Amino acid sequence: MPNQQYYAPIEWRDNVAYSILFNDIFFSQASGIEEKRYVFHQHNNLADRFARLNAGEVFVIAESGFGSGLNFLTTLQLWRSIRRAENRSLHFISFEKYPLAPDDLRKIVIQFPELTNELEELSTQYYLLLPGHHRLTFANNVKLTLIIGDIQEQLPQLSHKVDAWFLDGFSPTKNEEMWNLQLLNEIAMHCHSNTTFATYTANSQVRRNLEAAGFTVQKGLGFANKRNLLFGKFNQHNNQSMTKKTPRPYYAIPDFPTHNITQSIVAVIGTGISGAATARALANRGYSVVVFEKNPQVASEASGNYQGMLYGSWSAFGGAMMELSCSAYRFSHYLIKTTLIEHTDFASCGLIQLGHNTQQVKRNQQLLQANLPPEFISAVDKTQIEQLAGFAINQKELNGVYFRHGMWLKPPRLVSELLNHPKIKLITNCEIMQIERHAEHWLLHEKNNITIPDKITHLVLCNAHAAVDLIPDLAPFLRKIRGQTSVVENISSSLKTVLCGNGYITPESNGKFTLGATFQFNDQLLDVREQDHQENLANFSDILPDLISQITINQLSGKANFRTSTYDYLPLVGPLADYDQFNRDYAKLTKDKNAWIDTPCNYLPNLWLNLAHGAKGLLTAPLCGEIIADYISQSPLSCSENVRIALHPNRVYVRKLVKP
Ligand code: SAM
Repeated sequence: MPNQQYYAPIEWRDNVAYSILFNDIFFSQASGIEEKRYVFHQHNNLADRFARLNAGEVFVIAESGFGSGLNFLTTLQLWRSIRRAENRSLHFISFEKYPLAPDDLRKIVIQFPELTNELEELSTQYYLLLPGHHRLTFANNVKLTLIIGDIQEQLPQLSHKVDAWFLDGFSPTKNEEMWNLQLLNEIAMHCHSNTTFATYTANSQVRRNLEAAGFTVQKGLGFANKRNLLFGKFNQHNNQSMTKKTPRPYYAIPDFPTHNITQSIVAVIGTGISGAATARALANRGYSVVVFEKNPQVASEASGNYQGMLYGSWSAFGGAMMELSCSAYRFSHYLIKTTLIEHTDFASCGLIQLGHNTQQVKRNQQLLQANLPPEFISAVDKTQIEQLAGFAINQKELNGVYFRHGMWLKPPRLVSELLNHPKIKLITNCEIMQIERHAEHWLLHEKNNITIPDKITHLVLCNAHAAVDLIPDLAPFLRKIRGQTSVVENISSSLKTVLCGNGYITPESNGKFTLGATFQFNDQLLDVREQDHQENLANFSDILPDLISQITINQLSGKANFRTSTYDYLPLVGPLADYDQFNRDYAKLTKDKNAWIDTPCNYLPNLWLNLAHGAKGLLTAPLCGEIIADYISQSPLSCSENVRIALHPNRVYVRKLVKP
């Protein structure tokens, strides 16, 4: 059984929501909104600081305890009420160990009619909150990074400094760990010399801990029945315990000279899902983006299948791929449902992972026992599988797990829609043969002498294995894995949900459905093969014999593509070092993989990779596009430090030195 206690249990007493775990309220009953404005906005001087932001600046707020989101929603409202020029952004980061269930959050906030619009915007995105980082986007250049997990573990995973802290854990007497010196020291690590903080409590131990962590603390008048509150500023010189971590400069976030957004031109190479999502994430932030595609059509290669499906790489035992899947699944799901037309371009039909062999049965059970939200995964037996799938299953015993948010979609439609933006210029039939750094810009050399903008400030390679043609040093680290899908026409199928076993089968759309996909290593040809169609059919011939037996090979069309993958199956996302210089700078790693080296990394300036998503591009490429936009705009990243480093392209160079 999935853990029904994933969400915070609450109890209503006289119309007031209490946390059962902490026996405490989420905000003052005198007036939740007024308290937020008084304690957190006024004592961080937000209105004034919002109004004084410079062009291109991102104001970063972090909060300990998202709870009902009231702090976030009132801050969003304040941000919108302040007159500012364009190109300023607000980034709100909040940590939450025990997220409220979506219905409970609504029920709490709906009590404040003046927040109705903001609540609607939050509610449409507040779902599938698996552990980890979640990126939510709001109008008026506002981003929320909601981090589901214990702040003690998650804060060290934050790579960005914060301008204002909202300290809003439950009362220090009921939740000491949100106020202890260890956590406040970690908060201090995420402050700069102008960082402020505010909190509703005036607890004397909290005050002493704040001072010990380096904050200059002032006492103010408390809200309503509270006598005092605390607020103040960070003063680095007061902090005695700022520890230095072992430098790994080859993974550092690059400190490239910033370009004004209005003067930036970002070139994106490739129009698969990765290129399209990256271009869109940048265009949404105001960047001018030029996208190059060597084929006449977008999404002509691995993102060109008739149907694809949204699925994760789930593991009950954590790890970078699981963390990435947890963050990326909600991100892609929301992107797809807000970009495409339901039932035409995609269907939110759910997905069943069958327990088709003993290994998969075990994996399913482990996942069911992991503490994951009940609406994400549930156990299904044979009868339930038949009901959900709309098909009689020809097996005596079969069980599986049901992912209610699983879907099929048409990847080329997603690519086209994402590229359809006034800030994106698409150039097809344009093959970039060579890239060259020239003073402050990237020069792109094209095969047919098409005119290319000459002031390209940033370059993002989203061209899968073809990146090797532009950066040959990457060749040993990327591989192509052939995969063929089979599209069935003229056979009616009543399948209602995606089924995954050895392969997958999708429900019908416009009289066609898909079976997929083969996995062939060391095969460099892209011909469509009868043998591969047979393999795709065979995967379901025992489970759905009535359907599969109707299909003859000549009713099948299909496509063979290469999935580009690394050897650790994680994509390459982020900046990349100059390889020769890297080998010189970090040669010591060959002798000692933990060598203390502080030579700054010589990155290829303003060059970024978002590629090698393997068979999981629909899952991981959109979030990774957002991460690239975070890097370029120097905003907080939508992933933890662990995931950032697990995706860092330089890892392949590091491994080569450590283990040649
Ligand atoms: N800021 C919230 C609002 O505007 O509704 C109210 C926050 S409530 C007072 C405190 C929140 O901190 C609770 O939602 C609780 O689950 C969360 N919390 C408690 N301990 C935590 C921890 N160790 N890490 C992250 N969140 C925690």
